[in-house]
Amino acid sequence: MKIAVLSRDATLYSTRRLVEACTERGHEVRVLDVLRCYMNITSRRPSIHYKGEALTGFDAVIPRIGASVTFYGTAVLRQFEMMGVMPLNESVAITRSRDKLRSLQLLAREGVGLPVTGFAHKPDDVQDLMKMVGGAPAVIKLLEGTQGIGVVLAETQQAAESVIEAFMGLKANILVQEFIKEAGGADLRCFVVNGKVVAAMKRQGKEGEFRSNLHRGGRASLTRLSPEERATATRAAKIMGLNVAGVDILRSNHGPVVMEVNSSPGLEGIEAASGKDVAGLIVEFVEKSLAGRQSSRSRTRTRGSKG
Ligand code: ADP
Ligand code: MG
Repeated sequence: MKIAVLSRDATLYSTRRLVEACTERGHEVRVLDVLRCYMNITSRRPSIHYKGEALTGFDAVIPRIGASVTFYGTAVLRQFEMMGVMPLNESVAITRSRDKLRSLQLLAREGVGLPVTGFAHKPDDVQDLMKMVGGAPAVIKLLEGTQGIGVVLAETQQAAESVIEAFMGLKANILVQEFIKEAGGADLRCFVVNGKVVAAMKRQGKEGEFRSNLHRGGRASLTRLSPEERATATRAAKIMGLNVAGVDILRSNHGPVVMEVNSSPGLEGIEAASGKDVAGLIVEFVEKSLAGRQSSRSRTRTRGSKG
């Protein structure tokens, strides 16, 4: 197979591991910087060019699209899809999951456990918004934040109101969320491939920190998931339409609650904590779905002869 990895930086751990796994399994692999891909979107025969050359012959594409390049990155991925190249995760699913609000709305509709969450842009009644999520303490999040930046714990009603007002002054979209205190500054990262949790880790925030992000000094360790946690993670990935996803869950006293679903989950932490070859499992899934795709295509062709 010929596989493209869409990544801005070939030296990143996740990119390197995916390239390694492809090579080990006998595939031809190429890392492409998504921002350097350009394309004619009006041609009936869609193509993508890269540094003066037309990209051809790819069977599958593994997108590793950073949050800051979602818009252009998903457009390039969509073009690959139109060329008949199989994506690991579809562009629509990535776009869907990158919108925190949209994700939570979809998960809520399907009855997945979530922290009680309010969303606002310019509420006239901040007190009512706070009441909606059960009052202080509450977590306030900037919709566009990543790596724990823009996530604030407001311990009192007064603190919450000032933070909400400050964010509103910046014209930012915000989420106000019930604080899951009983999670004890820890969350679960469940790595889902093809409807199964293939690896999981518990991330514990450093002393005195409620955010467990590894970028904020959190520590990862191996953990056993309960059947309910497993089911929550796989359902969340399925609802988002992601074949590969990192589902972040908090252990609340009303059961597992999903915080976010990541469409380009990092491999470094999870491979180190679990000791598993997650990159290999991803490439194995690509192989299997390509095989399934080819056999269903040949079936279509036979059927097609009858109209
Ligand atoms: P980011 O996208 O920036 O990582 P998150 O929503 O994942 O933002 O929040 C960062 C961290 O803060 C989480 O990993 C979790 O440890 C903690 N956290 C977030 N929301 C809550 C909450 N409602 N209750 C308790 N802890 C939370
Ligand atoms: Mg997070």
